[in-house]
Amino acid sequence: MKINPLVKNFVFVILILLVVGGVFSLLYLPDQQANEVSLSQLAGDINQDKVKKITVSGDSVEIIYTDDKKASSMKESNSVLSDVLVNLGADKTKLQKVEISASTQEESVWSWLLPALLYGILPLLVIGFFLWTMMKQTRGSAMQVFDFTRAKAKIFGAEGHSKEKITFKDVAGLKEAKEELVEIVDFLKFPKKYLDMGAKIPRGVLLLGSAGVGKTLLARAVAGEANVPFFSISGSEFVEMFVGVGSARVRDLFMTAKKAAPSIIFIDELDAIGRHRGVGMGGGHDEREQTLNMILVEMDGFEKETGVIVMAATNRGDILDAALLRPGRFDRKITLDPPDVHDREAILRIHSKDKPLAENINFKEIAERTPGFSGADLANVANEAALLAARQNKTHIFQNEFLEAIEKVLLGPERRSHLLSKKEKEIVAYHEAGHALVSASIPGTEPVRKISIISRGMAGGYTLQLPSEDNKLRTKTQFLAEIATLLGGMAAERLIFGEMTTGASNDLEKASHIARKIVKDWGMSSLGPISFEDKEAVMMGAGLENNYSEAVAEKIDGEIEIILRGAEKRATEIVAKRRDMLAKIAKTLVEKETIERDEFEKIIGVPSTKKKVENRK
Ligand code: ADP
Ligand code: ZN
Repeated sequence: MKINPLVKNFVFVILILLVVGGVFSLLYLPDQQANEVSLSQLAGDINQDKVKKITVSGDSVEIIYTDDKKASSMKESNSVLSDVLVNLGADKTKLQKVEISASTQEESVWSWLLPALLYGILPLLVIGFFLWTMMKQTRGSAMQVFDFTRAKAKIFGAEGHSKEKITFKDVAGLKEAKEELVEIVDFLKFPKKYLDMGAKIPRGVLLLGSAGVGKTLLARAVAGEANVPFFSISGSEFVEMFVGVGSARVRDLFMTAKKAAPSIIFIDELDAIGRHRGVGMGGGHDEREQTLNMILVEMDGFEKETGVIVMAATNRGDILDAALLRPGRFDRKITLDPPDVHDREAILRIHSKDKPLAENINFKEIAERTPGFSGADLANVANEAALLAARQNKTHIFQNEFLEAIEKVLLGPERRSHLLSKKEKEIVAYHEAGHALVSASIPGTEPVRKISIISRGMAGGYTLQLPSEDNKLRTKTQFLAEIATLLGGMAAERLIFGEMTTGASNDLEKASHIARKIVKDWGMSSLGPISFEDKEAVMMGAGLENNYSEAVAEKIDGEIEIILRGAEKRATEIVAKRRDMLAKIAKTLVEKETIERDEFEKIIGVPSTKKKVENRK
């Protein structure tokens, strides 16, 4: 059980006070009980042989009777007790029998020292002790705060931490980025060479690229190549921190890195702290700004020969504060592109290196089937393939496992246990058949690779279409075809069952998203080649508005509706016209649950595919 330290202290102090009180009463009770007797009565008692002992200390007289009772009395100062007693009528011989002693000077010292101690010093001690415990505790929590501000930087490559050194060899593709970074590596290795030439060494390198393209990996590879320590921290860690903690961490991180120089500081998710300043009203705003300022201050404070290079990663280069990008800060910007088909093959090879592969693994095919996959996705594919092979007690990973893994990474795991009723199965089959048929019937679509009514992740069934090549540029025709394909599922449901189900909601979402982009971002509608920008959600409430008026917003919505309605009509017409074909595909699906590309093309007849290939060219 944890007791609040303050409560504990309080209880403790009260306890001490009680004890002290007890001591006082013990000391003073006997005195109070001791009878006060007059000296004349004492003289009388002596005459009656009642008194055993008298102790005189200063003016006070302590009497002990023969029955061990105690009493006290006072005499005038400078008078001699025995004389006084005799004067008061005490029998001299009887008085001689009484043991009379004068207490020493010491005793009289104690008589004032003891109360002084009790009244004066003890409370001081108590207060002192109380303060001391409080101090001890505040110091404890101060230490905790101090600990808290310490950057929990992960270190790789420092002594004892040579956790699997990563070099450029481990990074596939990203050729241009690597070429740019070779210079940084060289500087970290031979700083003198550059300093002697009077060259200005870059301090900050900004890695731009979407999630999973290998920004962190590349930064670690730079550290690995140069064999220097790598301190990494993520911008998101600074969000929602107490004010001041973030900047303290930054200071600490830079201090540690400078001590270990030459070294690399890696700040992941720089955008979390490095957004434009002066916008947004979030609670963590002040903290972000302070943290950002501290990073800038630290970077500006680098000496010419400080061998620390700050690398930062972000997938939102567009929203970074301009101050970060100024010369002497993150003035080197390196963009990491998503891997093309060759890079994907290389990445797959790297991540399959230590795995037992069957002989006929065709990495090229896997790479071709994974357009749009990031390096992280591909690493995931290789791992999923290994898991699948292991689960099936195979000794090697075969091509099939890789192909299966692609779908798993793309769509989530199969949910065979997710059982559909017969009716539901039929609906899903027609829905997916609708997608596939519409896609196969219009130019500008990607070939259907697989149709399935086995649940995967969130999807009840799926129609897999993957481009056979990496399209960087896409046309309006392609987008419209894609939207029509997306609405094909819904159109088929309506045609066969008279109404649509909730199974189409994700399709609608995607279709609307594309339509919106066609109008607002790509200038492909009748509204003209204009980019209609929305202000970001973070900036909301700061009095900023979209760069278009309410009236234009209405027009945009109108255009989007035209696109979606058109696609709906197109899809509906296709499924209606080719209803027999739709039924054929759906029946096959109910029967087999999945249809691969070859079989699908056989069902709908090769010509349509051929036609499409021609169209694509
Ligand atoms: P980012 O920081 O850009 O989000 P990471 O660097 O963390 O991405 O990449 C995640 C993982 O993906 C890496 O650990 C690595 O396994 C894999 N990966 C990404 N890009 C590559 C690449 N070019 N070569 C090899 N592996 C890669
Ligand atoms: Zn669908």
